[in-house]
Amino acid sequence: MCLDNFFTGRRDNVRHLLDYSRFELLRHDVCEPLLLEVDQIYNLACPASPVHYQYNPIKTVKSNVIGTLNMLVLARRVSARILQASTSEVYGEPHVHPQTERYWGNVNPIGLRACYDEGKRVAETLMMDYHRQNKVDIRIARIFNTYGPRMAESDGRVVSNFIVQALRRERLTLYGDGSQTRSFCYVDDLVEGLIRLMNADGLHHPVNLGNPGEFSIHQLAEIIVELCGAELEIEYQPLPQDDPTQRRPDITRAQQLLGWQPTVPLRQGLERTVPYFAQRLTRSGGHQAKHSGRLAPAGDIPVERRRAYSEAADWTDRHQF
Ligand code: UDP
Repeated sequence: MCLDNFFTGRRDNVRHLLDYSRFELLRHDVCEPLLLEVDQIYNLACPASPVHYQYNPIKTVKSNVIGTLNMLVLARRVSARILQASTSEVYGEPHVHPQTERYWGNVNPIGLRACYDEGKRVAETLMMDYHRQNKVDIRIARIFNTYGPRMAESDGRVVSNFIVQALRRERLTLYGDGSQTRSFCYVDDLVEGLIRLMNADGLHHPVNLGNPGEFSIHQLAEIIVELCGAELEIEYQPLPQDDPTQRRPDITRAQQLLGWQPTVPLRQGLERTVPYFAQRLTRSGGHQAKHSGRLAPAGDIPVERRRAYSEAADWTDRHQF
């Protein structure tokens, strides 16, 4: 059973599954309660791109707090195991490098990223408290930057932005001087890690899932233009508030307890991702059409999706939470 409010997800992403008789797709927002007979719950519900989670930050907090509560209530009621998608953002601007699960983080609680960072931190707290108080069987995955096919071209995060810009022969929008680092994990590796974590017994503490290969954003730009056969042309833009300067997972816990580690290096993952975007741009008529104006700019939220994340569509407001 796949639940989505389609704010950032697309029906197309699961179209290949719709013919399976045991697959069901429901339009549902986790901020609303739900009762289903299930034995495992993967709660991945929350926009992950800064432009998307900052579009309606109050709703982002609700998705993480009320949404996670609703999923925990469901897990408790039907005795399901529940895995919460947490994030490397719980480490904020880290003073420990690479980040181990024992590090408590350095997060600005009142900044523009707080709706996501603090939302995910409370979600972890709720998970641990439901485990301690109600014996709910929980799993917490701290996911580091993930990329791959089926990302939206208007996602707004760096990998999709750079690929779309390079394919359209536009300048790459580099925020800051590009020396900030991230560790990028290919989607297939992440999915494998999530499934292993869900099915490991008795693992109730957070586990980092990410690729320890660390790259500066400038290095990422260089690799992407090379793979797209483009020239490196950069449009420097200001670094967003509270943008972490470095990030890299320590994955010792995942290696030891899940026997998991990423198998797809960055360049190889990008080689698999570029053709996906090229195909999407060709289909929508925007491939290599410089400033064609036919595609929404990277990071823009299509009008038809905004409703999914607007207050009007928000049950929690009508019930005055
Ligand atoms: N970034 C950039 N250009 C873009 C989008 C992002 O230089 O068009 C930078 C951003 O400032 C950050 C890094 O790339 O330092 C990763 O950003 P992203 O939004 O992908 O993920 P997050 O900041 O949440 O890790």
